[in-house]
Amino acid sequence: MRKISDWGNYPVIDAEVSGFDSAEQLRSKLEKPGPVIAFGNGRSYGDASLQESILLTRRFNKFLSFDEATGILSCQAGTMLSEVLDVFVPRGWFLPVTPGTKLITIGGAIAADVHGKNHHVDGSFGQHILSMDVMRNDGSIITCSPEENTDFFKITVGGMGLTGMILNATFKLRKIETAYIRGETIRAANLNEIMDLFEASSDWTYSVAWIDCLAKGDAMGRSIMMRGEHAAEGELVSPAHKHAPLIPKQGLQLDVPFDFPNFALNKLTMNAFNFAYYNKCRPGTHQSIVDYNAFFYPLDAIDNWNRIYGKRGFTQYQFVIPKKAGREGMHKILKRITDSGLGSFLAVLKLFGEQESFMSFPMAGYTLALDFPISLKAMDLFKELDAMVADYGGRLYLAKDSRMDAEMFEKTYPNAADFRQAIALLNEGTTQFESLQSKRIGVT
Ligand SMILES: Cc1cc2nc3c(=O)[nH]c(=O)nc-3n(C[C@H](O)[C@H](O)[C@H](O)COP(=O)(O)OP(=O)(O)OC[C@H]3O[C@@H](n4cnc5c(N)ncnc54)[C@H](O)[C@@H]3O)c2cc1C
Repeated sequence: MRKISDWGNYPVIDAEVSGFDSAEQLRSKLEKPGPVIAFGNGRSYGDASLQESILLTRRFNKFLSFDEATGILSCQAGTMLSEVLDVFVPRGWFLPVTPGTKLITIGGAIAADVHGKNHHVDGSFGQHILSMDVMRNDGSIITCSPEENTDFFKITVGGMGLTGMILNATFKLRKIETAYIRGETIRAANLNEIMDLFEASSDWTYSVAWIDCLAKGDAMGRSIMMRGEHAAEGELVSPAHKHAPLIPKQGLQLDVPFDFPNFALNKLTMNAFNFAYYNKCRPGTHQSIVDYNAFFYPLDAIDNWNRIYGKRGFTQYQFVIPKKAGREGMHKILKRITDSGLGSFLAVLKLFGEQESFMSFPMAGYTLALDFPISLKAMDLFKELDAMVADYGGRLYLAKDSRMDAEMFEKTYPNAADFRQAIALLNEGTTQFESLQSKRIGVT
C-alpha cells in the first residue's frame, strides 16, 4: 500500500500500486478479482485514475513504428507526450493536439480525449487516433478504430479508462518546419472584448486566453489572448533559431521543493500576481517568436507547481457552455466567481469548435478553467456554479473533477445512461475497471 493522488493532491488515498512491462504481465494482473484502474501520469486533477488497486502504465512506453512519409506513429500507451516531442520535433513532426502540459501519457490523452489551443480547428486528441488496442477485463484484446469495432472505439475515447487498458495507439503527427511558434499577445480590457477577440481569431490555429478571475466591475474578465501558428523556417529572425530551427534551446527548469503553507496563497497575494501579470502586457498587439515549450507548456517549467496550494490540495473547476448561451452565461458565471473572491491565478478561457462525441467534454462553446484551493466555501460555490452550468446546457470536464455528483453528471452528459449500461456489460466478470470518480458519478 502507498499514498497516491492525482495532480490536485485531493483526494490522497492508500492504494495497492503496480506496473507492467508486457501485455502478458498485465493479463496476469487482471486475473486478480476486484476493481482496478489505469494510472497514466496522474495529471488529471481529481480521482479519475484512483482506486484501491492501481495499474501504472508508465513503464509500457515503447515506440512501435513510424512512417517518415506520412507521420503515422504507433506507440505503447504509457508513452508521454514529452517523449514523442523529444524524439520527433527534431525530425520535423509535432503532436496533432496537445493539452497545456506535455507530461501526460498517450493513454491518458485518449481516455480523457484531451483538447488543446487548436480545438476550434483540429478537434480533440481522439479525433486523430487511427487505431488502438485495448485489453479488456478478461485479458482479451480488442483492436478498434473509427472503422473497426466502432462502438467500442467511441466509448473508449473519453471513456476515462472504464472500458479497459489502452495498450497502444496509432495516430498521425503534424509536419512542422521549426520548433517555434509565431505568436501574438493581445490585452483585452473585459469579458466582452476577449470574446470579440476569440470570434476574430478563428483563422488562427492556436488561441487561448488567460483571464483574471479576481477583477471586478468594468474590468471583469480582463484577459490576455495568446494566439499562434507554427513558424515557417523563413519566418525565424534570430540567428540562434535559424542555426538549428528544430532544436529549441533548453529553458530554465525550476522546482517547488515543498508544500507551501496554506496562508501563502490568499486574496492579497493572488490579486497582486494577477495585477502584475495583466499589466506586464502593454495595450495593443505584440508579436514574438517563441519556442514550443514556452507557448504550449509554460507551467511545465516549474516542477511540482501543485505544491503551492499546500497540503489541503486544490481542484480545477472547468466547464463549457454552448456558444449561444456564451455571452450571457459567461458573464453571470464569472460574476458569481469574482464576487466569491475564491478564484486563484490560473484561469484559462477558450472557444471550442464543434464536437459531438459519445462521452467527450468539448462542445461548440466557451470553456473556462480555474483553480481553487480546497475549502468548504469553494465546495458550496461549486454547487451553485453546477446549477448555472447545467441550466445553460453546459457540463464539467471529468479530467479535472474531484467532486461532481451523480445527478449533475446524468443531467449534463447526454449519453450518461447508455455509458453506464455499456460499462456494466464490459465489467461483467471477476475484475472491473472502476475509479473513485466513476463510483461517485454513478457510472459503476
Ligand atoms: C498543468 C495541466 C494542464 C492541463 N491542460 C489541459 C488542457 O489544456 N486540455 C486538456 O484536455 N487537459 C488538460 N489537462 C488534463 C490532462 O491532460 C488530462 O487529465 C490527462 O488525461 C492526464 O493524462 P495522464 O497520462 O496523466 O493520465 P491520468 O491522470 O493518470 O489518468 C487520466 C484518465 O485516463 C485513464 N488512463 C490513463 N492511461 C490509460 C490507459 N493506458 N488505458 C486506459 N485508460 C487510461 C485513467 O484511468 C484516468 O481515467 C491538464 C493537466 C495539467 C496538470
